[in-house]
Amino acid sequence: MSCPRVLRLLRGGLPRLGWELARPARGSASAPGAADFNSFVARTNTCGELRSAHVGQEVTLYGWIQYQRQGLFLVLRDFQGLTQIILPQDEAHSHVRKLLSNAPVESVVRVTGIVSSRPPGQENPKMPTGDIEVKVETAEILNSCKKLPFEIKDFIKKSEALRMQYRYLDLRSFQLQYNLRLRSQIVMRMREYLCNLHGFVDVETPTLFKRTPGGAKEFLVPSREAGKFYSLPQSPQQFKQLLMVGGVDRYFQVARCYRDEGSRPDRQPEFTQIDIEMSFVDQAGIQGLIEGLLQYSWPQERGAVTTPFPSMTYEEALADYGTDKPDTRFGMKIVDISDILRRSDVQFVQNALSYPRGTVKAICIPQGVRYLKNKDLESLKESAKSQFNQEVMDMICRPDGSLKSLLTKLLGEEQQSELMRALNVQVDDVVLLAAGEHKRVCSALGSLRLESADLLEAAGMMLRDPTAFHFLWVVDFPLFLPKEENPAELESAHHPFTAPHPADTNLLYSDPTKVRSQHYDLVLNGNEIGGGSIRIHNAEQQRFVLEKVLKEDSEVLSHLLEALEFGAPPHGGIALGLDRLISLIVGAPSIRDVIAFPKSFRGRDLMGNAPDYVTPEELEPYHIQVSWPVAETEAKKN
Ligand code: ASP
Repeated sequence: MSCPRVLRLLRGGLPRLGWELARPARGSASAPGAADFNSFVARTNTCGELRSAHVGQEVTLYGWIQYQRQGLFLVLRDFQGLTQIILPQDEAHSHVRKLLSNAPVESVVRVTGIVSSRPPGQENPKMPTGDIEVKVETAEILNSCKKLPFEIKDFIKKSEALRMQYRYLDLRSFQLQYNLRLRSQIVMRMREYLCNLHGFVDVETPTLFKRTPGGAKEFLVPSREAGKFYSLPQSPQQFKQLLMVGGVDRYFQVARCYRDEGSRPDRQPEFTQIDIEMSFVDQAGIQGLIEGLLQYSWPQERGAVTTPFPSMTYEEALADYGTDKPDTRFGMKIVDISDILRRSDVQFVQNALSYPRGTVKAICIPQGVRYLKNKDLESLKESAKSQFNQEVMDMICRPDGSLKSLLTKLLGEEQQSELMRALNVQVDDVVLLAAGEHKRVCSALGSLRLESADLLEAAGMMLRDPTAFHFLWVVDFPLFLPKEENPAELESAHHPFTAPHPADTNLLYSDPTKVRSQHYDLVLNGNEIGGGSIRIHNAEQQRFVLEKVLKEDSEVLSHLLEALEFGAPPHGGIALGLDRLISLIVGAPSIRDVIAFPKSFRGRDLMGNAPDYVTPEELEPYHIQVSWPVAETEAKKN
């Protein structure tokens, strides 16, 4: 069933329609021209709209007072931009002047007046409305603003906690307005692509469901039946597969998902996925669909998306980048130097290579001598030790081209130059070398590769182009991995519904650890932005995986297993993490910057103060009693 890449290009790579999203340039956050922002309301224009062509027109604007100056003028702001408003100085309009000049900043007002050209020399080329001003004739204060906890200006730094406590004020900033509007437009384009161009059906699935085995921790919701709880789904996985059994054929949903993962940086307990499932599809089909989807919905201002995306196996990703989500925007790849050092007398190298999965690997940090301080090198080595229990040795390339390291004495001339050739070492480069078990060595060097890239960039080297977007498919993952807490047991690398690689199906019954899966991840600039798989559609195979390999109680999934017995079509799907995708597109440091009302690092809503206590009376219908930890009982007493 596999469809060639060329075909995929033709099917998925549809031409993009001309649409434009303005950058949040100073004084402008304008959105596409086609929409009518002034329908159904009394304003004639938005605050970002007026130009020289409007001179002479009477206009009515609504907005917030961004700035005002000595009873002479003020700047009015709305979601689309800024307009300069000139206050009348004549006696007949003194009440208007007083009204507006007494209104505190961020009060919301209506002004009606005449658009005029700014006096020559007073135009502001940085402002899209900078050629004009509005001479106000009548005005109304619609609501006055009390003293603000912080100024609504992008350049004013405020703590994230304060921004989240007053999120509705933070939302007034151009940056957040821009992020939310861009997000909305991208989702709109995705809907168009999926529903209108490819026949997908938008189906909502329940958020009150039951526990799913394996995977992330789920939030529980008490029910009125004693001892019974709903779970909030970590994804609509079971429902989307059941929709395929139900003959829906092509499903998608902008799905809210929930994971009770505690406090983890840049994770949200609730987040959004573009969730997709298709019948009669293979891996190449899903990949083509997603490439076309991203190409179609990608904002023009961020450059074109080139398809097909490159692809790498999990093994290659681990060997060359030390991670299953390689950042391919820069080199510094991990190089296997086992064969070069195998002939040396270096004891720790020989030790490492004597184990079955033993290896010696290295990365070369370009210009490390010039860009990294000694303490940086020390902290890199320390981090490999503390995070991966992996010793790392450094080597420096001197100005005369020779290597300086504890190792050089033990290596012959020939080995040294082979090493330098393999790693392409130049003068002033630093090499980090690690020997040991393959996965640990790769993971440690992969992490050092990223840490040193950050250090090089902090010191002024331009390594990763901030405007570049590198998509990458990672494929051929193992189907099962040893459990971290008990390596003798296996868990699904993705989830238990993932089908084995067709070439490895027989191994499922003889050596499950060797089975590759039909799971694929989509990586963008070193971040996993999506993942999915072709599913098991055979009930017997699914039961075998659950019971025999994963040792799960298949009873919790009896509904799904039964459904697979009633003519389930072959199917597969994927989910894109919308929050992360948008944050990468807009270059936001955190996913919280693209979510209207995000939770804090600890999973709290700092504005409404959720989660919150409830009274014992409210808990009674749920047959729940809280056993208070001592500290909290004391705190409640005080
Ligand atoms: N439900 C999966 C996830 O959330 C995605 C998929 O397999 O389609 O990771």
